[in-house]
Amino acid sequence: MKLFKTLQTSIKESKTLEDRFFTVVVLVGLAIVTVSEIVTYVEDITYIANLGTAIGGVMLLLVMYEAYIRKKMETARIMLCYTFNCFVIPVTFFTCGGIDSGMPLYMLAGIFTVIPILKGRHRLICMIISFIVDMLCLATAYYLTVNEDILGDLKQKLLPGLSLGSRYIDVASSIILIGLYVMITTALVMDAYQKERASREELLVKLDDLSKRDELTGLYNRRELFRFLEEMPAGDGRYYLCMTDIDHFKNVNDTYGHVFGDLVLRTLAGIMAEEVRTQEGELAARYGGEEFLIVVKAASKPEALERVDRIRKRFVSKKWEADAALVTSFSGGLVRCSDCQSYADAISRADKLLYTAKESGRNRLCS
Ligand code: GH3
Ligand code: MG
Ligand code: MG
Repeated sequence: MKLFKTLQTSIKESKTLEDRFFTVVVLVGLAIVTVSEIVTYVEDITYIANLGTAIGGVMLLLVMYEAYIRKKMETARIMLCYTFNCFVIPVTFFTCGGIDSGMPLYMLAGIFTVIPILKGRHRLICMIISFIVDMLCLATAYYLTVNEDILGDLKQKLLPGLSLGSRYIDVASSIILIGLYVMITTALVMDAYQKERASREELLVKLDDLSKRDELTGLYNRRELFRFLEEMPAGDGRYYLCMTDIDHFKNVNDTYGHVFGDLVLRTLAGIMAEEVRTQEGELAARYGGEEFLIVVKAASKPEALERVDRIRKRFVSKKWEADAALVTSFSGGLVRCSDCQSYADAISRADKLLYTAKESGRNRLCS
């Protein structure tokens, strides 16, 4: 029961393609071994066939023990590939199949199995060894078939697969089974690849967005602000840039603490995000500590001023739980971008106007 539970969680947790493939091969292998064991018993094939299948089953259980109980995934993967290619397939080949059965197809499937389970050097070595083992099986089978008197009666007893003649049904069913195997594994590979690609793309989009945003306020950060300003059509007279700075913010921090100060910053940023129309090519960004930069599109300077002033009024009328009497405000300097030589010039002029707004009593916009 505990083994079953561990197995279940291990399968659920297997995220990489190699792990998922491993699980499928182990489970399919166990199913084949169980069915073969029943068939060899019912059909009374040979003790060798019976024993070989049973040993294969035990080896697969050992692989599972290594993987799911001891959590030695690397060892388990190597064990699985060699168990399949160097034991299960050769034993089955001699006892149940032979050259004129579907077994050569299983040999191919066995080598194919190594590809998604092992990596790098291990994969190459295992594929070469498996290939050599398969070739030896085929050569031995050929030798035994050509030299009929070798082993005599014993051959018929131990290796019936080698003298049963052409087995049409066996070959046909093998083609179907191997076809299914290749289809399922290919689908599995594609599915895992697509899932991984989708999650990677999702992550990239998330990371890309994170890299553009300011951590505290969620507004665009300086990097994104400068990228935006660089790409802004310089001659377009509809763009206005406004630099804002919260009034007496140091007092707010000193009186109510920095946690509250952060809340004030986030609140102002929230108002800006609501008022600025990003889809229409506008932008609000955190320039520095309590300085924000807004780009709005307007047909005239009064319209642009009115847009930013809406933000200021909402911020001024904000009721704070910490102190009902507290009034927050900001000052701002606004310029038309097409009147400036560069965006750096626009920022510098807006900054000067902001200073004027502070000088002339704060809580106002100058343009
Ligand atoms: P003024 O009206 O002239 O702008 O006065 P002020 O007090 O707002 O100006 P000053 O530049 O002296 O203060 C800015 C303060 O902003 C100082 C700094 O502690 C605070 N500040 C900067 N970044 C953050 C932040 O991320 N969180 C908090 N809580 N405070 C910040
Ligand atoms: Mg400041
Ligand atoms: Mg300030």
